Amino acid sequence: MADLEQALAEVAAEMAARGDRGEVASYIPQLGRVDAGKFGIAAATNDGRVLVAGDAGEAFSIQSISKVFTLTLALGEKGDALWKRVGREPSGNPFNSIVQLEHENGIPRNPFINAGAIVISDVLLAGHQPRETIGEILRFVQFLADDETITIDSAVAASERATGYRNFALANYMKSFGNLHHAPEMALGVYFHHCAIAMSCRQLALAGRFLANGGRQPSTGHSVISAERARRISALMLTCGHYDGSGDFAFRVGIPGKSGVGGGILAIVPGVASLAVWSPGLNANGNSKLGSIALEKLAKMMNWSVFAP
Ligand code: GLN
Repeated sequence: MADLEQALAEVAAEMAARGDRGEVASYIPQLGRVDAGKFGIAAATNDGRVLVAGDAGEAFSIQSISKVFTLTLALGEKGDALWKRVGREPSGNPFNSIVQLEHENGIPRNPFINAGAIVISDVLLAGHQPRETIGEILRFVQFLADDETITIDSAVAASERATGYRNFALANYMKSFGNLHHAPEMALGVYFHHCAIAMSCRQLALAGRFLANGGRQPSTGHSVISAERARRISALMLTCGHYDGSGDFAFRVGIPGKSGVGGGILAIVPGVASLAVWSPGLNANGNSKLGSIALEKLAKMMNWSVFAP
C-alpha cells in the first residue's frame, strides 16, 4: 500500500496538470467566477493525522455536501420517524428533478436530492425561526470540524434564493402534499443558507471524521451519532450521494461520497479516514469531474474499497 501523504501529493500534482477539467457551475455568478484550475485534497485519518495537498486550505461553497450534516442533525432529532417523510432509494434522476415527486405523493426519494434536503430543512425548523436553525446547522459543522471560523457566504445564499425557481417549485409541490410543515420560503431559507456554507478541503475532511469512526469524533471521543446511524448515512452516500452518477461513483471509486455543485466531494473510508476533494469543474451529472477521478486514483493507490477486506 502506498504512503498516504505521498499518494495525495501525487494525485494533486497529476490533477493540477490536467487539461479537460469540466464545466464550472454557472447558475449563480458567485459560483461561475471560481477558477477552474483549482484542485485541493485532504485526508483526516482515524489515527489523528490531517494530510493535505494542492489548494486544500482554500474555502469553497460546499453546496449539497451540507446535506450530509443536515441529515445527521435531523436523524439525531427525529430518529427513524424521519423516514416517513423522505425515502432511502437512489433517484436515478438529476438533483433538482421534479418528476418522481408526483408519483410518490410528495415524498422525495432520498435526503440528498434537493427535494429531500428541503424536507430535512423543514424538519430542522420545528420550533425555531429560520435564523436559529441556520445558526444551529453552522454551529454543528463548526463543532464537527473543530473550527469556529467556518462561515456562510451570504452572497451565495442570496443568489440561490434569487434564482431558485426550481427549488421553490419543489418546495411548493411538496407543501401541496402536506410534506412541508412550514411555509416553503422558510424551509428554503434554511436550505439555501446551508448550501452556502464555505469550507476548505481540510475543514471538510475534519468535519467528516465521525462517519469514518463509528459516529464518534476521533480527536475528542465525543459521540456525534450512533455507530449504526453513521453506517446508514454512509450507505446513503454510496447509493445516493452523486445523484444519477451514484452507480458510476460506487463502481469506480468504491467508497461512500457526497458531492456538491461547488465541485467538492466528501468521501468516507470506514474505519480509516475522511477525505475531501475540490475541483470546481463538473461532469454531466453535476459532480466534480477531477474530484471523482482523483478519488478513484487515490482509492486504487491505497487499496481502499468498502467491497474489499
Ligand atoms: N444549492 C444547489 C441547488 O439547490 C445545490 C445543488 C447541488 O449541490 N447539487 O441547486
